[in-house]
Amino acid sequence: MTAPIATLPDAFSALEQIGNAARRGGIALFLDFDGTLAPIVNRPEDAALAEGLFGILSGLGEHMPLAVVSGRDLDDVKGRVGIDGLFYAGSHGFTIEGPDGFSERYGDAYMADLDRIEEKVSAIAAEFGNVCAERKSHALAIHFREAPADTEDRLAGRLAPLFSNEQRLKLHGGKKIFEIRPDFEWHKGCAVRRMLEVLSGSRTELIPVFIGDDLTDEQAFEEISDDGICIVVGSDQRETHAGYRLDDVPAVRDFLSRILERTSAP
Ligand SMILES: [Mg+2]
Repeated sequence: MTAPIATLPDAFSALEQIGNAARRGGIALFLDFDGTLAPIVNRPEDAALAEGLFGILSGLGEHMPLAVVSGRDLDDVKGRVGIDGLFYAGSHGFTIEGPDGFSERYGDAYMADLDRIEEKVSAIAAEFGNVCAERKSHALAIHFREAPADTEDRLAGRLAPLFSNEQRLKLHGGKKIFEIRPDFEWHKGCAVRRMLEVLSGSRTELIPVFIGDDLTDEQAFEEISDDGICIVVGSDQRETHAGYRLDDVPAVRDFLSRILERTSAP
């Protein structure tokens, strides 16, 4: 079931429920990075954790399982968060690392397919002003945040022929980004389910809470909407599988700090 983001109840109204569960040690937090913990910036390499979040996330990580689940490469997102002892899922979940040496990778067999198409994609990106192609470990990203407004449609038109007979890779859209990823049933939702499986070895009946802002987060919302709490960041009319919303990154920070207060209260 989906609903427009703007019609959802504010996540602060679920604080009591989440806080109570957290105090019983019963929640696991899954957080997207860009647009959730870090304000969206024109150049992705400039993105950083919002002020105050380092301390809040460090505190939360001491009280509950916490994972940062990003489209960025694992080492990239890990470096930008910089907190030890958390779970990190990079490349939309294709690579996962966690405490006690936990490490898993998926979709490595598709690397050669990305290599095969990389040069063509870069050449197409170079035809446009302010468009750049970026090779990530399990994806090719094409960023056009700084390009003129009509770029998205024109770029989509140029990229489409590459995928008319493509069996191994798929073109995805997002916020001012196209991404070419393995056409393989693995995504943020699968990664969250896998981390829950690992975590449930030590704790039972963990309630997953996922906060994210973009289309790839919807796959995690879909995966856990029956047994978890899904919070989308935004206020527009896009259809979402989430049940609650938060306005923006500062609202996420305030919300997480309220959970920390409730968790660490004597
Ligand atoms: Mg995001």
